[in-house]
Amino acid sequence: MSVALTLTEPRPRKAAPRHLADLDLAGCQSVLSEIGQPAFRAKQLRQQYFGRHVGDAALMTDLPAASRDAIGEALLPQLLQPIKVDSCDDGKTVKAVWRLYDGALVESVIMAYPDRVTACVSSQAGCGMACPFCATGQGGLDRNLTTAEIVDQVVAAARIAAERGLGRLSNIVFMGMGEPLANWARLKNALHLITGPVPDGIGLSARNITVSTVGLVPTIKKLSEEGLPVTLAVSLHAPDDELRDELVPINTRWKVAEVLEAAWEYARVTKRRVSIEYAMIRDVNDQPWRADLLGKLLAGKLVHVNLIPLNPTPGSRWDASPKPVEAEFVRRLRAAGVSTTVRDTRGQEIDGACGQLAASVREAGTPGRAGAKPGGAAGAAD
Ligand code: SAH
Repeated sequence: MSVALTLTEPRPRKAAPRHLADLDLAGCQSVLSEIGQPAFRAKQLRQQYFGRHVGDAALMTDLPAASRDAIGEALLPQLLQPIKVDSCDDGKTVKAVWRLYDGALVESVIMAYPDRVTACVSSQAGCGMACPFCATGQGGLDRNLTTAEIVDQVVAAARIAAERGLGRLSNIVFMGMGEPLANWARLKNALHLITGPVPDGIGLSARNITVSTVGLVPTIKKLSEEGLPVTLAVSLHAPDDELRDELVPINTRWKVAEVLEAAWEYARVTKRRVSIEYAMIRDVNDQPWRADLLGKLLAGKLVHVNLIPLNPTPGSRWDASPKPVEAEFVRRLRAAGVSTTVRDTRGQEIDGACGQLAASVREAGTPGRAGAKPGGAAGAAD
């Protein structure tokens, strides 16, 4: 074994532990038969996990006590080790940092509103899209999450929401770490499990799920063909290619016009209003002429714009736009007939605790300062 080889080979990855959320019913049944358990336990387990959000076989009182350990080991390993679970906003926002089996870290955020409970979940550990204003983008991609790691964040969020008296989990936004459409196969399976009826899924409404993307055009098309009426959110951040090439580097591959074309096609096929996300960055993308250009591109479409006050990341040279500049941007978009709201900044004062993700989770339709109507921000609630 040469030293040179050791240095140049990528660190071998441990295989992900087997989990029922990575298997279908037949797969669960065959694992159970391997460990000498009756096949009917598969339905029981799935009912407990997807329907009652119990992730630990030791707590499943409908299983014989003597079999719980073996069943848990075979099908319900703990995928998410809580590293930190913080709350802010009077307990109405909870941020969890999880360690995965190989040491990778991901975050989820749970936010309680009067009319819904939203979880913001991660689709990848890290992100390869390299948007310069985004904290996750600076660290690069670590790896794709497995389907079970995505689904388990949703199950954990439902459990946390219930335990903390926040209400029943109703909405999911894929605005945590990662580019969901860059992990398409796993995301697609996770979406089916999140929306499938109990005991084959968690049973949330596809209409309450938002998938946010930098704009991977061919995969937006695949999503539109999936028959899942989820809300598509496109992180545009600039109406012109020159600036978007810099802010969202994948724009060098798929230009503004192509991304918007894919978004309109998505709206046509799914009849869902598309969300356009636009981080307001002082003196970078907040000029009146850019508002007018954006308004021209979006006028007459089935679309809603979410302006996100930039959440400055450590070491970044960029800052949020001043409020009057933001207000003028909103005014111009609305004058063009484009439905527009500014994302709520609840929780901003405790950024240290709620951080980047908390800023990105506002999407799910909180009434914004700029006269948003409830449920009007991301279309996640409409
Ligand atoms: N990769 C996906 C989803 C992750 S981020 C995407 O890009 O859409 C969810 C949203 O938060 C995106 O619109 C992203 O551009 C935005 N975002 C990232 N960093 C931000 C920051 N520092 N301030 C405000 N919004 C940010």
